[in-house]
Amino acid sequence: MKIWLDGGLQDSESARVSVFDHGLTVGDGIFETVKTVHGQAFALTRHLDRLTRSARGLGLPDPDHDEVRRACAAVLEANPAPLGRLRITYTGGHGPLGSDRGEHGPTLVVALGTTTRRPDSTAVITVPWTRNERGALTGLKTTSYAENVVALARAREQGATEALFANTVGQLCEGTGSNVFVVLDGELYTPPLASGCLAGITRALAIEWTGAEETDLPLDVLQRADEVFLTSTLRDVQAVHRVDDRGLPGAPGPVTAKAMRIFEERSGNDLDP
Ligand code: PLP
Repeated sequence: MKIWLDGGLQDSESARVSVFDHGLTVGDGIFETVKTVHGQAFALTRHLDRLTRSARGLGLPDPDHDEVRRACAAVLEANPAPLGRLRITYTGGHGPLGSDRGEHGPTLVVALGTTTRRPDSTAVITVPWTRNERGALTGLKTTSYAENVVALARAREQGATEALFANTVGQLCEGTGSNVFVVLDGELYTPPLASGCLAGITRALAIEWTGAEETDLPLDVLQRADEVFLTSTLRDVQAVHRVDDRGLPGAPGPVTAKAMRIFEERSGNDLDP
């Protein structure tokens, strides 16, 4: 497979990043996962804007959007994959051991992975750990994902595919790699960014296209919501049919099914909404 590294395409087998890259030694990096549709990147402008916001949050130099676009196009052209995802990784780069960055400058890697089609509905769990809604990294899409790895492993142990977090004040926040929406009395709600959740691109599109309202929701809303769904680049809109021990038979319910339909139609009509 061909990946983009150091300004050009390289063979993934032989491409090398320094063992002193700060993405590896201190988790000093950011990333984007971009869906590909018919061999093209979906919503790339929004992903690049978020990449820049994350870079600024970490004090990394602004990524060069033209280079990232060229890298994505080159990787897609070199590796045709029918159901794929681009992974853009941008790190602090080679530097001394410790937290101070070196002079070398950032590392940019663009690679392509395959994805499988997600089922229309899934099971989720809630976890006892909290998202920090006021941390230095809140809202940034950093490579420091170990907390999500741990929570997702807990979900898998319980036959679920996603784990949902509350924040430190007990409000529903997000999943390890998704945002969450709930239906109450026919109305659609999602936690606000102030809950500490990531500004998901699928979330933003779902809000714009369905008129969902952003509002604080206690975690236990999941025990009484009529419908629950997740959004993410790799799930699009995915219904939830179980939260912990509570079944939600009939998922996707009517509001979720409508959101799925709208999302499929609108995203199919516009590659860069
Ligand atoms: N929240 C977290 C923590 C994520 O990692 C992701 C995506 O990976 C999302 C939400 C969903 O964001 P998006 O719709 O941009 O994929």
